[in-house]
Amino acid sequence: MILDGHNDVALRVWLGQEPKHVRLAEAAESGFAGGFFALSTLADMPDLPREPPYAHPLPAPATHAKACADVEAQLAALQSLPVTIVRGVDEIRPGRVNAIVHFEGAEAVAPDLSDLEDWYARGLRSLGIVWSRPNDFGEGVPFRFPSSPDVGGGLTEAGRELVRVCNRLGIMVDVSHLTEAGFWDVAEETEVPLVATHSNPHALCPVTRNLTDRQLDAVGESGGVVGVNFAVSFLRADGANDVAGTSFTEIVRHVDYVASRLGIEHVALGSDFDGADVPGDLDGIAGLPLLVEALRAAGHDEESLALITHRNWLRVLGETWRTSR
Ligand code: ZN
Repeated sequence: MILDGHNDVALRVWLGQEPKHVRLAEAAESGFAGGFFALSTLADMPDLPREPPYAHPLPAPATHAKACADVEAQLAALQSLPVTIVRGVDEIRPGRVNAIVHFEGAEAVAPDLSDLEDWYARGLRSLGIVWSRPNDFGEGVPFRFPSSPDVGGGLTEAGRELVRVCNRLGIMVDVSHLTEAGFWDVAEETEVPLVATHSNPHALCPVTRNLTDRQLDAVGESGGVVGVNFAVSFLRADGANDVAGTSFTEIVRHVDYVASRLGIEHVALGSDFDGADVPGDLDGIAGLPLLVEALRAAGHDEESLALITHRNWLRVLGETWRTSR
């Protein structure tokens, strides 16, 4: 059973595109049991080259109204797929595609949080405070390589309140895409384990989207989880977006780095399928058994594999989704 920290398949389906990686007809055979399905609002940004070194500007903010419309439509797209939207950990089962509704960037939440409970009632169980742009709650990292993730401001007061209310309602808060300052603000505010659904160790690939050793250590100390991102430009030491020249064994290197630094209880998978360029030899979810095989060959026993592929996600979800606090 493989639970995954991030995919953008709802966005693709909404745009009328065929899923490139999450081909749901292949889910049963590949062991793909779903995970976090991101809903987001499109950035009005040109398709800039990712040849390192690069330093792209932040896209312009999106309005609440546009974000609501986009997310609404993607939720409908998600509901049209052969997936089961899950609202509690006991609903996540092997043998089907479980969909955790996740906002990538909280623009669809009103700055006064007046609609957050409505979104919760409609299935929202996880949100990234920002995508890579500023919003009412905080600021995301621009895409830069090489660069520290300490490249902008932290959370606003509304952002801090968002963390507190998410804690109370039982919505997971995701730190992927946040600036380092925003990360530390979440760490200060949250009462549950820190989670990065789709980020890698900065020590192995110094891009703004990855986490420094200090950040990784904080995730581990909080009892949290890092979902390793399959994007080649977040995996490779040289930051190149070289799909054909990158093997999925790079993912093993990142899993092992997090596992040896934080412990095996703190690493999981966060593919970024259908939102990023992944190693050419992976071929979407159909390649997941090959990745598991490569992890096994690298020395992970069945217990470790179970933690990496689903049990760590289930644990942090269980600790986050408890409600009535
Ligand atoms: Zn992302």
